[in-house]
Amino acid sequence: MIHFRPLFQIPSCLQHLYRKVLWRGDLSCRCVYLTFDDGPIPDVTPTVLDILDQYRVKATFFCVGDNVARYPDLAREVLSRGHQIGNHTYHHLRGLQSTTSTYVADTEQCETTLQSVLHAPSSHLFRPPHGRTRYAQRRWLMSHGYQVVLWDVLTHDYNPSYTPADVLSVVQRYTRNGSIIVFHDSIKAADNMLSALPQVIEMLKKQGYEFRTL
Ligand SMILES: [Zn+2]
Repeated sequence: MIHFRPLFQIPSCLQHLYRKVLWRGDLSCRCVYLTFDDGPIPDVTPTVLDILDQYRVKATFFCVGDNVARYPDLAREVLSRGHQIGNHTYHHLRGLQSTTSTYVADTEQCETTLQSVLHAPSSHLFRPPHGRTRYAQRRWLMSHGYQVVLWDVLTHDYNPSYTPADVLSVVQRYTRNGSIIVFHDSIKAADNMLSALPQVIEMLKKQGYEFRTL
């Protein structure tokens, strides 16, 4: 059971402050966008790929550059199985605790790694770790062609006080047309996420949603 009401959705006043950042996809369609942050890692990501294949769902993976460098074959597999890959910085930097020059260098290091491992054009999708950036960092990202992608449904799959049923109920409660839903292919989130993911997909399919990439 969820006993308190943490932030699942970003208030519209904050969304206004972060104009030009993507909070939701196409609002006019009965569709959702599944996203997975922090991978790829061998303990979790292959199972996510198998679940997505089972349901013929494509998703967007915001990868940490350090993981891409460690597991290049896995990163290539994410792409070859039809999913999108975006930049999540090289060292999973927190924007508010980093200078803009450090943040830019780390983002560029991730991009260089993605390019050399994937041999594919950049998606120019960027998700800031923890969802927070300084204005100057966002300005740099946008002026260099990045689409900053946030979300409107945070599953809290990484939260040890949550069960898979809690994760499912968050998605059930907050998903609407065009929702961008955040999961994590990380060790911390694995138990909740891997257990909830098939149920989430089945529920959303029953509700008539189709799954899109960004
Ligand atoms: Zn992250």
